[in-house]
Amino acid sequence: MTKEQQKERYSRQILFRPIGEGGQVRLAQARIAIVGMGALGTAMATQIVRAGVGFVRLIDRDIIEPSNLQRQSLYDERDASEALPKAIAAKDKLLKANSELEIEAKVVDVTAQNAAELLSDVDVILDGTDNFQVRYLINDVAVKYNIPWAYGGAVSAHGTTAFFRPSETPCLVCLFGTDPGSGHDTCDTVGVIAPIVSIIASYQVVETLKYLTGNTAALRNGLLYIDIWKNELRQVAFGQRKTDCSCCGKGEFHALHAKRDALTLSMCGRRTIQVKPQAPVEVSLQMIAQRLHAVGRVRFNEHLLRVELGNEIQITLFADGRALVHGTEEVAIARDLYARYIGM
Ligand SMILES: [Zn+2]
Repeated sequence: MTKEQQKERYSRQILFRPIGEGGQVRLAQARIAIVGMGALGTAMATQIVRAGVGFVRLIDRDIIEPSNLQRQSLYDERDASEALPKAIAAKDKLLKANSELEIEAKVVDVTAQNAAELLSDVDVILDGTDNFQVRYLINDVAVKYNIPWAYGGAVSAHGTTAFFRPSETPCLVCLFGTDPGSGHDTCDTVGVIAPIVSIIASYQVVETLKYLTGNTAALRNGLLYIDIWKNELRQVAFGQRKTDCSCCGKGEFHALHAKRDALTLSMCGRRTIQVKPQAPVEVSLQMIAQRLHAVGRVRFNEHLLRVELGNEIQITLFADGRALVHGTEEVAIARDLYARYIGM
């Protein structure tokens, strides 16, 4: 594509004065990693690629399923029937929208072992994950290598987002501590509608565009919470960084330096994988049973809960947070099912 054609492609964005020609050049030189290519990830990737960000790395451990199609706008029925890895299918679709860019697909689980390698060579990290285990890894890499990152989460009809800049703003640990607890609502227990996903993803992207084009004075610098069903919107300014924060204050990167992964995994018998939180947690089996009634047959007593999810998959959850995932030999699938149905 010639220089003139490129200018034409991005002409409406260049006309937007805070970006302009200078901003467009900066976008072309920028590098982004997107962690998680589900609903948020696909929505962000579409905007980022069409905006002309020069290098985009797509990271996802999962395959496309029919239940993704309601909100994961890059995928179609054929992708789901072929059960393609999300990162691969997304790369194909995105290159059709903009063949000028470098797009890299990584079909991996982000762990303490590979997080720095996957995330430390970019200008901004975009969070499209559905769990705090990975968010703490992102936060550790971000603080350690001084890389801004856009946090986003959406379930049901509500979502939360923030744009963190190490050394300028508080970090995730400043805001939430090192342990947000387990048993959070997830898309797989309380559902999610597409509009909230698009909105949160758009907030993540716009802050990223502001930062990459040098418009840092326009950044929000706060935590934003939106419930589009109840018509609520709340904003909390960041305030000061915590000087005694274990992560950005003291430089202790607990998630990155975890000797084992936050979830210890071991095969224990045929087609069963044990998934265990690093430190014992107390879960309310009754509360989790109530949430899971909508997704499968649940039985529980004071010691354990068992849910049948179909496709011969069953999860047995113990009161200390440990779970046995029956019906798969894939560690990544077991881990994914745990994140989705138990939450963390
Ligand atoms: Zn901090």
